[in-house]
Amino acid sequence: MLDAIVVGSGPNGLSAAIALAQAGCKVVVFEASDGIGGGVRSKALTLSGFVHDVCSAVHPFGVASPFWRTLPLAAHGLEWIEPSAMVAHPFDDGTAVIVERSLEATAATLGGDGDAYRRTIGAVVDNWPQLERAVLGPLTVPRHPFVLARFGADALRSAEGLARSAFTNERTRAMFAGIAAHGMMPLDRMLTAGVGLALGAMCHVAGWPIPRGGAQNLAKALVAHLQSLGGEVIVDSPVRSIDDLPPARIVLCDLSPKPLLRIAGHKFPAAYRRALERYRYGPGVFKVDWALSAPIPWTADGCARAGTLHLGGTLGEIAASERAAFEGRIADRPYVLLSQPTLFDPSRAPAGRHVAWGYCHLPSASAVDMLDRVEQQVERFAPGFRDCVLARSVMRPADLEAHNANLVGGDIAAGVTDLRQFFTRPTWRNYSTPVKGLYICSASTPPGVGVHGMCGYFAAQRALSERM
Ligand SMILES: Cc1cc2nc3c(=O)[nH]c(=O)nc-3n(C[C@H](O)[C@H](O)[C@H](O)COP(=O)(O)OP(=O)(O)OC[C@H]3O[C@@H](n4cnc5c(N)ncnc54)[C@H](O)[C@@H]3O)c2cc1C
Repeated sequence: MLDAIVVGSGPNGLSAAIALAQAGCKVVVFEASDGIGGGVRSKALTLSGFVHDVCSAVHPFGVASPFWRTLPLAAHGLEWIEPSAMVAHPFDDGTAVIVERSLEATAATLGGDGDAYRRTIGAVVDNWPQLERAVLGPLTVPRHPFVLARFGADALRSAEGLARSAFTNERTRAMFAGIAAHGMMPLDRMLTAGVGLALGAMCHVAGWPIPRGGAQNLAKALVAHLQSLGGEVIVDSPVRSIDDLPPARIVLCDLSPKPLLRIAGHKFPAAYRRALERYRYGPGVFKVDWALSAPIPWTADGCARAGTLHLGGTLGEIAASERAAFEGRIADRPYVLLSQPTLFDPSRAPAGRHVAWGYCHLPSASAVDMLDRVEQQVERFAPGFRDCVLARSVMRPADLEAHNANLVGGDIAAGVTDLRQFFTRPTWRNYSTPVKGLYICSASTPPGVGVHGMCGYFAAQRALSERM
């Protein structure tokens, strides 16, 4: 009998497998698709020689992950590249707010909002060692209650509310909204400020880096380390029912509730099944990858130094775009997240050529073609962009879900992250299920979305403490 089986080789599945192997378990990972990594894969999606990140591209929580910090991933080929600037937020007047790696350098460019930036984002940066476990872990008795209470008072607010009360300049407010909008929630909802504060602080705590050669190299390093501990990953092995798995003392599923119900629903008591059925997914994503003949011709100074760009203009525009996607409407000017990795990692394209990665949010499962709207947002801040496009690849919500069953309706966050689902992901049991030995380790458990492996790490700790 095996000690443990993990279903799915996303960053959380692999982290769970590593944590179990570290504890001496014999672990096998079964992966449905033809390659390892789940949301951390790279492919030649457009033209030969152009490497595109299929899902995740920029990894602030990957480099900051308390679990991965302890693993020898560099020895297995992982090299983080830090762009010269973390985030650029361009405006229609041809200027941009640039979030630098240095908090001070960033604050210095924000004029009258410099002190407010130090007080809000700076406070999270200063207290990150005390906050890390609360932000990147399940709900527990806080080790640093006063620091957490101070963070919580701001984090629980809406991003719009915090931006309007803390900052006086519309440019700073827009920059904060762009960061908070990663959370895929309307920016007037509680807790959206927390996304802006935590992700904003990451610019100065750990950076917003990219793996050299593509996100796939992060997954490869995790698998290589797992193999060095005696673990195994078997690809092209979709698990259709947990009854088909070989005998094992524990099974951890790197699955969100809907695909979990498909393979294990018949094992659960009705009340738990209903709780999983009630789990709410959020808006979808419309993803575009471009092969480019030249760097993107940004108008604003500083944009060419940034790894990530937030294209959405003002706070009002970004808030309207996020509300529309959440409420089932299409925004004419969708907020677009864009990454331009080849400016910092030329290995991903033929000499002199480039790739870019971008997406916008849209209603769950929507089939609306957003390509023109997305490219218009890029053109708005980089006239001539379309002249550089050699080829493009588009993934609609249905394509994303076909690529990975976890991405229900194209939701890349494995479920809405509002106040209720933040703490009860996917139910109050978090990683455990009513079936002995069966656990959930995906981003539908705390601490949720992002490439950090902490859901997998904590699920493995729960399983080890209960079953081994
Ligand atoms: C387009 C996109 C862009 C993103 N950008 C970023 C970003 O820049 N930075 C960031 O931090 N995060 C980003 N994310 C989110 C990030 O990818 C996810 O939060 C993360 O991958 C979740 O990891 P996971 O291990 O929980 O699950 P997944 O990564 O979803 O892995 C689950 C795995 O399980 C497999 N599987 C599913 N069903 C079965 C089955 N029945 N049998 C066997 N295997 C199965 C799937 O094939 C998949 O490999 C992005 C996601 C997407 C889709």
